[in-house]
Amino acid sequence: MSFEPFALHARVLSGVRAVGYTDPTPIQTQGIPHVMAGRDVLGLAQTGTGKTAAFALPILDRLVRDPKRGVTRALVVAPTRELAEQIHQAFGELGQATGIKSATVYGGVGMNPQIQALNRGVDVVVACPGRLLDLLSQGHGDLSRVEVLVLDEADHMFDMGFLPDVRRILRQLPRGRQSLLFSATMPEAIRHLVDETLTDPVTVAVDRSAPAETVAHALYPVEAHLKTELLRELLRRWDARRVLVFTRTKHRAKRLAEKLDGGGLFVSSIQGNLSQRRRQEALDGFRRGDVHVLVATDIAARGIDVAEVSHVVNYDVPDTEEAYVHRIGRTGRARHEGDAVTFVTPEDTDMVRRIEKVLGERIARERLEGFDYDVPLPARLDADERRFQRGGSAGGGQRGGARGGGGRGGLSRSPAGGGRPPARASTGEPRPSGGGRPSGAGRPSGGGGASHPRPQVVAPTPQHAGGAAGEAGAGGRSRRRRSRRSGGAGARD
Ligand code: AMP
Repeated sequence: MSFEPFALHARVLSGVRAVGYTDPTPIQTQGIPHVMAGRDVLGLAQTGTGKTAAFALPILDRLVRDPKRGVTRALVVAPTRELAEQIHQAFGELGQATGIKSATVYGGVGMNPQIQALNRGVDVVVACPGRLLDLLSQGHGDLSRVEVLVLDEADHMFDMGFLPDVRRILRQLPRGRQSLLFSATMPEAIRHLVDETLTDPVTVAVDRSAPAETVAHALYPVEAHLKTELLRELLRRWDARRVLVFTRTKHRAKRLAEKLDGGGLFVSSIQGNLSQRRRQEALDGFRRGDVHVLVATDIAARGIDVAEVSHVVNYDVPDTEEAYVHRIGRTGRARHEGDAVTFVTPEDTDMVRRIEKVLGERIARERLEGFDYDVPLPARLDADERRFQRGGSAGGGQRGGARGGGGRGGLSRSPAGGGRPPARASTGEPRPSGGGRPSGAGRPSGGGGASHPRPQVVAPTPQHAGGAAGEAGAGGRSRRRRSRRSGGAGARD
């Protein structure tokens, strides 16, 4: 199916062509007709499904057909600055021929441009709740003529404690508006929000709690102290330019990036401590392919939208199965293919079982050929390394997770992220034998000692999980062509 049947305005369709979308994704196919018909919609879809265009295209269509100057007519509320920026960019790209303007409103950056945009009555405001409320309470902006409200990633807004702010914003909106709410999961609090916000909604559900079908999953059982060396070895063997690595804590993210960086491999981390500018630099470097490996915590990684992340590595298992789905949602996006690799220690058995239940299948256990799994933990460790090692297994050291774990273990609950620029880090740690490796682009392709079977993921909803389990074993029913790897993801940019 193409985009033609939606009967979008010609100038909106030209934006679709300009960004290169040929076929709508399932959330777009199912959602766009209802949004265009003016219905309230509950979209159960995780990021990576194409949900932004599912609401942006009908909004652009509505605004371009009946232009009004100096009036804010659509409000999108998002939990993080990154997500707000991505939505704003999507409006800019998809609406490039429409003349419709959007602006972002979020904390951590100067207020003046945001105040000007609000007071000008920019067509579409894409905002994080806190700053928007601040500016509204100072008398800036007017939401009384908003025709469409979008609450995006509502479950994350709940996680981050934003629902009271969201409710305050809702009180400033006209009653007769159209409302759209997107959420990957449906905790009780979101059900209440849905009841309060949406009128007679249509529910559109896409792969509710399962990662994209194009992701192949693998577990690598390994002792905690060998994780770094195993990752280094995997990175050496993969011909990958964009690898996203998750750790449990900010400290571990920073330290791991420092350990891995070097020898032609450019590694950066994003975690809660640095400025928005530095964080953006790291993300931009990752997008461009200058940063090959980005190490992140769950919260810092929210909203990251980098096309063609080839591998997601769970250096530490996530705290919840939902966090696994969110992490993995960063690869295999919009029909690209990706690998999800999880390092597991014996303490992680319970979480692995829960993840497998959500996936509806057993994940293949892999052993990396030629890797020395018998190296003991060094008897002497410096203080920093001891601290790093203590966080290496479930229950040991600091933890923080996607769901309310932000207060512990140094993970920030704030939507604000931080990061370090994509500059080289000095590690102080001896390089693995062989003295590093050439950069991603120059490495020989297809050296894949790290290959693993590619079970087909049936993308079950949790309700179906049990039924799917029997059908989708690790039989390697791959939908993917292995030759993808040898192409070098970076070359396609
Ligand atoms: P989202 O779920 O909105 O964050 O979208 C994830 C990614 O999919 C973004 O990089 C979009 O540009 C891309 N995307 C959205 N819709 C389509 C489509 N119909 N065809 C190809 N890519 C798409």
